[in-house]
Amino acid sequence: MRMAPTVAIIGGGPCGLTLALLLEHKNIDYIVYERDESENSNRVGGSLDIHPATGQYALREGGLFEVFQKYARYDDTVFTLADKLGKRVLQTDQGRDAPEIDRSDLRRILLDAIPKDKIKWGHSLKSATVDEDNKPVLQFTNGVVLSGSKLVVGADGAWSKVRLIVTQATPQYSGKSFIESKIGHGNPLFETMASKAGPGMFMSIGPGKLIITQRQGNGSYKNYFGLQVPEDFFHNGTVDLQDVEGTRQLLLSDFYADWSEEYKDLIRHATDLRAWPLYSLSTEDMGWKSVPGFTIVGDAAHLTIPNGEGVNLAMTDSLKLASKIAEYGIQNINQAVQEYEADMFPRGVATITAGKVMENVLYSGDPQASLQIMSP
Ligand SMILES: Cc1cc2nc3c(=O)[nH]c(=O)nc-3n(C[C@H](O)[C@H](O)[C@H](O)COP(=O)(O)OP(=O)(O)OC[C@H]3O[C@@H](n4cnc5c(N)ncnc54)[C@H](O)[C@@H]3O)c2cc1C
Repeated sequence: MRMAPTVAIIGGGPCGLTLALLLEHKNIDYIVYERDESENSNRVGGSLDIHPATGQYALREGGLFEVFQKYARYDDTVFTLADKLGKRVLQTDQGRDAPEIDRSDLRRILLDAIPKDKIKWGHSLKSATVDEDNKPVLQFTNGVVLSGSKLVVGADGAWSKVRLIVTQATPQYSGKSFIESKIGHGNPLFETMASKAGPGMFMSIGPGKLIITQRQGNGSYKNYFGLQVPEDFFHNGTVDLQDVEGTRQLLLSDFYADWSEEYKDLIRHATDLRAWPLYSLSTEDMGWKSVPGFTIVGDAAHLTIPNGEGVNLAMTDSLKLASKIAEYGIQNINQAVQEYEADMFPRGVATITAGKVMENVLYSGDPQASLQIMSP
């Protein structure tokens, strides 16, 4: 069994790395344990908009705002809302203070600000338990076992292993899933797409379905096909995303047959398919009794349907937790956690509620109804 750091952070996503950055600044001993094999592991997921009072604020506190500005894309803050025939009902201007950054760029700038020996790659947490003295014990799938941390922070996302020791809350399937796809530079549709969709995000809504098109940092596009499907849709034989042509045909015939040809072209040329079943915790889950030695942050704490706030709130959790740890010191770290959690629960309730509202409106098929919650 190896000795553990004072604070063991499980997960090197935006939340875990922001916490690491802030603890580094405050000179508090920590290590991040990430299941990816290396920093170059293939990362999925699209561009993220970083908001002034939350994500940007955390980066400022960590001294990273100027670096962030080098990657921040203000031209990609354009937001267009349309119906299934392509009729636009809303278009915002460029330059909103919610610049986009690729997930991979955000990870890179955070990693560059943390000493390399503070992150342990290839460490997938198997279980978090306590020993006979009620002290945390961490077991990783690579055989490493750690004990002795004063605090274990679960920043391990939707299916957090640390959450299991903190609360019985379990994410529930929303009834909605995305199929993510890509139109890259070599794609025959790329030039047409670049001229028609342009910068930013283009969201199109039809009854029970939607399509989100989002320009990435390198100019390529990610398209998300939002479907109302059963939880086992990707496993019950209905669809095999490895069979790209078969998936395209299914989407064209069973889901988007009455959408305009321009949208169908996005399906006909879709590549790099990936499933994103959407899960959420419940507002009723927000309020557990603090467990000494453990806490959770970001999606692990308040997973919700994507509503444009997830990464921002995740970074805010890290900021609040780091501040509380610095305020109370390692000797009173459980008090710090209790106050962090009491402050986090209302944020969790708000974001889960917002996710639910957004989900209902987006799949209502009425882009006009979405205006109320979409207008920036
Ligand atoms: C399709 C989609 C689109 C989205 N779009 C947006 C958006 O536009 N704006 C926005 O703000 N939010 C968006 N979100 C939400 C956003 O991605 C999350 O809220 C955010 O990534 C949460 O950060 P996190 O660090 O808490 O979790 P994650 O980003 O999930 O990171 C968790 C990390 O923990 C690691 N990990 C997991 N399990 C273990 C383990 N057992 N051991 C060790 N490491 C582990 C993972 O490899 C990962 O690096 C979107 C989500 C989805 C699904």
